[in-house]
Amino acid sequence: MNRQALIQALIPQSVRDGQAYQVADATGLIKLDAMENPFVWPESLQETLAAQLSRAALNRYPDPHATQVRQPLRDWMQIPESLEMLFGNGSDEVIALLISNCIATGRAVCAPDPSFVMFRVLAHQYQVPFYGLPLDDAHDIDLDRWLSVIEETQPGIIFVPQPNNPTGNLFQTERLQRVVDQTQALVVIDEAYTAFTDANYLAWAEEAPNVVIMRTLSKVGMAGSRFGMLIGHPDWIGEFDKIRLPYNINALTQIAVRFALEHADVLESQSAAIRTERARLSDALRMRRIDVWPSEANFVVVQTPPSQARAWFEKLKQHGILVKCLDGAHPSLADTLRITVGAPHETDALLSALDQFTAD
Ligand code: PMP
Repeated sequence: MNRQALIQALIPQSVRDGQAYQVADATGLIKLDAMENPFVWPESLQETLAAQLSRAALNRYPDPHATQVRQPLRDWMQIPESLEMLFGNGSDEVIALLISNCIATGRAVCAPDPSFVMFRVLAHQYQVPFYGLPLDDAHDIDLDRWLSVIEETQPGIIFVPQPNNPTGNLFQTERLQRVVDQTQALVVIDEAYTAFTDANYLAWAEEAPNVVIMRTLSKVGMAGSRFGMLIGHPDWIGEFDKIRLPYNINALTQIAVRFALEHADVLESQSAAIRTERARLSDALRMRRIDVWPSEANFVVVQTPPSQARAWFEKLKQHGILVKCLDGAHPSLADTLRITVGAPHETDALLSALDQFTAD
C-alpha cells in the first residue's frame, strides 16, 4: 500500500495545501511577540506551587468540571450567579468548540477584519464559511458595512474581540450594541485583554439573549497553563458543554489556576504594572516621533516609515528583540509592527535598539 496515495485519498485537500500554525523561534531573544505577561512569580510562591503540583494525582483523570477553580474564578471576575462558565484548553479550544457547531447548522462565522487569526483559521479548518467585517479608518466597527455583511451571510456566530487584536482599540459600545440588537447570531465578545482595560461586558451576557463572553488567563501570566473560558446564560453553556471534551482541563492546570487565584493580588499587580509600562512605552515612542496606535491591551502597534516594517523587524531581531511584523497581513496593517508590552528593562532595551538604528 502506498502511503502518499492514502494521504491523498484520506486527508482533505484544504489540509494538505495548508501549513501548521507557525510560532517564531524566540530562543535567546527578548520576547515581545505574543502578548505574554513578562513577569514570573516570586520564588517562594513558585516553591509552594511546585509542592502542590508534586502531589497531583496524575494516575487519575482530572475532575471533568474543574470544580476547584469555579468559585475562585467567579469571585475574582465577579461573575454573577445567573451566569454559568465553561472552560477550555485555552480560549483557542473554546473558539474551536463554538465554530464546530456551525458545521451542522451550515451557518457562517464572522469576525472583524483584521482581527485574531484563529477565528478565520478554525473556520477554514472546519470548512465553515468565514466573512470578515471591515473596520473604518479609526479601526472601529464600520456599522453599515457590518450590518450588510451580517444581513447577507446570516452568520451563526460573530466573534468580537473587545479590545481588538491586533489593532488594540475598543470598539464603540453604541455600535457594538447595534450589532447585538440587529442580528440573530450568537455574539461572542472576546475579552482576552480584560486585565488591561476598564471596559467590561459581562452584564450584556445577562441582559441580551444572544451574547456570551470569552476570557482567558493567558494574558495575566498563565499562558503556559492553557486556560480559557466561556461565560454565559446556563442555557447556552449547557448546550456547549455537551460537545466539550470531558477531560479538557488537565489536573496540573486545575491546581495551577486555583493557586494563581489564591494569589490574585500578584496577577493584579503584574497587570497594573503592564498598564503603567504601556503608557511609558507609548510616550517614549511618541517622543521619538514614532506613530503609536492607542491601545487598551498589553501591546501597541507602531507605524514605521513606508516599507520599513520588515527592516525594523529584522533590525530589532539583530538587537535581540522579537516583535510581530503585521505588514502584509491586511492592507490596513501596512508598515506596522505589534509590540507586546514587556518588563521595564525590556522596554529600555527596545528603545535603545530603536535609537541606535533609527539614528543611522
Ligand atoms: N482571543 C484573542 C483576541 C487573542 O488575541 C488570543 C491570543 N492571542 C486568544 C483569544 C487566544 O488566547 P488563548 O488561547 O491563549 O486563551
